[in-house]
Amino acid sequence: MKSLKEFLEMEDGGQFELPQLPYEYNDLEPVIDEATMIEHHTKHHQGYVNKLNGELEGTPYIGKPIQEILKNIESFSQGVRNNGGGHYNHTLFWNLLTPNKNEPTGKLKIKLITEFGGIDDFINQFKEAGLKRFGSGWVWLVVNEEGELEITTTVNQDNPLMFGHYPIIGCDVWEHAYYLKHKSNRGGWLESFFQVLDWEQANTNYVQALHENKQ
Ligand code: MN
Repeated sequence: MKSLKEFLEMEDGGQFELPQLPYEYNDLEPVIDEATMIEHHTKHHQGYVNKLNGELEGTPYIGKPIQEILKNIESFSQGVRNNGGGHYNHTLFWNLLTPNKNEPTGKLKIKLITEFGGIDDFINQFKEAGLKRFGSGWVWLVVNEEGELEITTTVNQDNPLMFGHYPIIGCDVWEHAYYLKHKSNRGGWLESFFQVLDWEQANTNYVQALHENKQ
């Protein structure tokens, strides 16, 4: 299984590109509907990629890894912040979804139980944080500066890397992610997210984060 880093490394050295999904648009039905997937990937994510490339054109930052840009976001324009965050967040998000339902696993499972009291307790706290995020944004499970797991939220397309955190699980709580099916019911959307969350990929992201933290 590819880590997020590997997915994004393929883009280094040139223009950013819309990544292919690791499943078909209708593979997550009936949990996430095909119409939402198509709109979200081909319109919203493609838009972030196009605008990011436009913002970076003619600057010395062409070809820089997206992680480096996001970690040093204070040096960039608001356009790079919005669209670079949008590109990274959505790439992480698509790779955290799967039509092949699986269960919490590995080091991440053990750590979630230790820190949150149990998997269900973690899921409930994550959903609660997502519901409380006012307006458009994301809810995250991150590894924080101390190397510990923490639930956070960000506004717009801000990303944990901008705050010295490493993202493990991220859920898009912009209305464009769920409005066609769930209307204004964000709670229903967060419920759906956990039905198709790829826990194996989440564990891969966690193991990668522990590795990065040691460097
Ligand atoms: Mn989105």
